[in-house]
Amino acid sequence: MINYSEKLCPCGRGEPYEQCCKRFHRGDDLPEDALQLMRSRYSAYALNLPEYLIKTTHPASPYYLENKFAWKRSLSQRSKESSFKRLEILDFQEKDALATVTFTAFVSKDEADATFTEISYFEKFKGRWLYLRGQLYRGYAPEVSAGDPLKIMPLAFYGDPILQKEADPVIEIDASAKLLIEEMIETMKASSGIGIAAPQVHRSLRIFIAQPPVEFGEGKLGPGEIEVYINPKLSHPSEEMCQLEEGCLSIPTIRAMVPRPKEITIEYTTSDGSLKQKKTSGWEARVIQHEYDHLDGVLFIDRLDPKERAALQKRLDQLKERTQEL
Ligand SMILES: [Zn+2]
Ligand SMILES: [Zn+2]
Repeated sequence: MINYSEKLCPCGRGEPYEQCCKRFHRGDDLPEDALQLMRSRYSAYALNLPEYLIKTTHPASPYYLENKFAWKRSLSQRSKESSFKRLEILDFQEKDALATVTFTAFVSKDEADATFTEISYFEKFKGRWLYLRGQLYRGYAPEVSAGDPLKIMPLAFYGDPILQKEADPVIEIDASAKLLIEEMIETMKASSGIGIAAPQVHRSLRIFIAQPPVEFGEGKLGPGEIEVYINPKLSHPSEEMCQLEEGCLSIPTIRAMVPRPKEITIEYTTSDGSLKQKKTSGWEARVIQHEYDHLDGVLFIDRLDPKERAALQKRLDQLKERTQEL
């Protein structure tokens, strides 16, 4: 057992643990900003303090587990099998209640190098900074960028009335609509989403963004092109249905197989105001139908048969309870 009271804090600020992250870990003090929180979470990993990691995870995080016991065990496992050598902060940005920290953690696992770079997203919730999610890159990657974190918008979660409302048509693609589109794209990227609809960022307008995955050979999927759909209309659904697993940025941690028509035609206005029509299939048809549903106040869970939906209800209620005050 190492006496950390005399040792330097693993967070890399160069101070003894006693005067550094200990006060956060003990709950005597709250980190003032997301950077301090990020450092204290890193040192909590290094010191195997899973409770602190759980306590500082945002209730709407995709990593949130209702089963605290299993969560604690898996975090502790990660601490034990890794050796945390050094932390390098690459970037820190903050706007209102949102912040990003980009860092490289120099880590080894079973003697092998397991260094990674992460863009972490944080949100201030009830006066406390909390960890929302991370985008991971292998190795030391100082070139990765958090995009424009100043444009990331807070998401609406299951239970928020805006998600059940029919959205209004866009009358004019003016500067405010264009800004909203940029914000939606940044929010989608920050959440690693493949689609996002305006009601999900608390704007009841008929706009959605889709970035359906495309195949890169050998069945590997990667991000496709980002497309903006304004005032879309769907038609000609194929009779043939297919099942694919869906998730939703507004319903984090919950996924289900959803039946939908395999093909569909969409007519829409692009962000430069031109009218377009296309017949879609595969992942594109899937994402388009999911996002389109948001404009009518419909969620993917509403497309499940009542039995399946009922089986998810407990988890949905828990999610609603955790996120209702966001
Ligand atoms: Zn520290
Ligand atoms: Zn969705």
